Amino acid sequence: MVATKVRRRGSPYMGPRRLLTLAAFLASGTLRGHLPAAAAEPATKARASADLPASAMAFSKFPGVKAAASGEWILVESTGIPEHPMMAGITSWQQQIPLPQPYKGANAWKIPLRPAKADNPTPMKDRFLRGAVAVASNGIPIFNPQNNRGEISQDIGELDRWGGHCGRADDYHYHIIPLHLAERTGDSLPIAFALDGFPIYGLREPDGKPMRPLDACGGHDDPVHGYHYHGTGKSPYVFAAFRGKVTEAGGQVDPQPRAEPVRPAGEPLRGATILSCSRIRMPEGEGWKLDYSHQGRSHSLRWIAGESEVLIWFPGAKDPVTFRRGGRGDRAGGRERGRPGR
Ligand SMILES: [Zn+2]
Ligand SMILES: [Zn+2]
Repeated sequence: MVATKVRRRGSPYMGPRRLLTLAAFLASGTLRGHLPAAAAEPATKARASADLPASAMAFSKFPGVKAAASGEWILVESTGIPEHPMMAGITSWQQQIPLPQPYKGANAWKIPLRPAKADNPTPMKDRFLRGAVAVASNGIPIFNPQNNRGEISQDIGELDRWGGHCGRADDYHYHIIPLHLAERTGDSLPIAFALDGFPIYGLREPDGKPMRPLDACGGHDDPVHGYHYHGTGKSPYVFAAFRGKVTEAGGQVDPQPRAEPVRPAGEPLRGATILSCSRIRMPEGEGWKLDYSHQGRSHSLRWIAGESEVLIWFPGAKDPVTFRRGGRGDRAGGRERGRPGR
């Protein structure tokens, strides 16, 4: 077990790029609680190490995803809703739906700004079955390829065509490295970052050349880009071990944000196949519609996710059921808590 003490040491210096990023965050009204104490001081002693690494430009390829350097972290904010379609193709469904998540402010993703190799890699198999092990460049968490029952999600119909599904808090996440994101990021930028801080590239090297052989963790050293992982599309679907230092607490990488459930977790609906999930305009506002087939019939679920409440029209219902955000008492429990079932 690797248990690296996390040092909370804010850097007193700010590079110009970081200042710009922070200015953008201030303008957007987010991350206020995350400004280091030194933010108000003149940035006369700028040094490059306080900047975001060039690889973090990957986040800027996705609207709605924000990244900023703060102290020893890259802070990543997102809504948890990807830019691509979701849910279609799932044949093992727990009746969860994708709802926006508050991955912002104190609940933003934290990626080590200066990743460091551990003395020994930390294998993923049968560990880290709760929470994320990486964050994709589109702000969507990537979980262990094993679900919390230890099964390989990709092999049992739990995942959609993009490698994701929704957890018990209606939180969308992947269980494989989303290679399709390379269409947006290109070869030169990572498609994800492991929570040990090392970037994850697609099927080619950052310079566009064929992928060189990988070590047992699923990565390799590079004189220009440093240590990095690659997605391969093959088992184990995510890197096999953390090469870098990570802190494990309560069966997951620590720290990491929490998803916010608004309702009790769903039950498996045996034999259901999700056909589509798309944005729709309803008389009540902008919402979503999920179509699925079950026992030879088609059904639809509709919902509107507002700031303070979520309205869900269950199949056949004329009126929605209202779930208030923050109304559940188990927000602090983490996403994989409770009964198995993701
Ligand atoms: Zn490589
Ligand atoms: Zn899952």
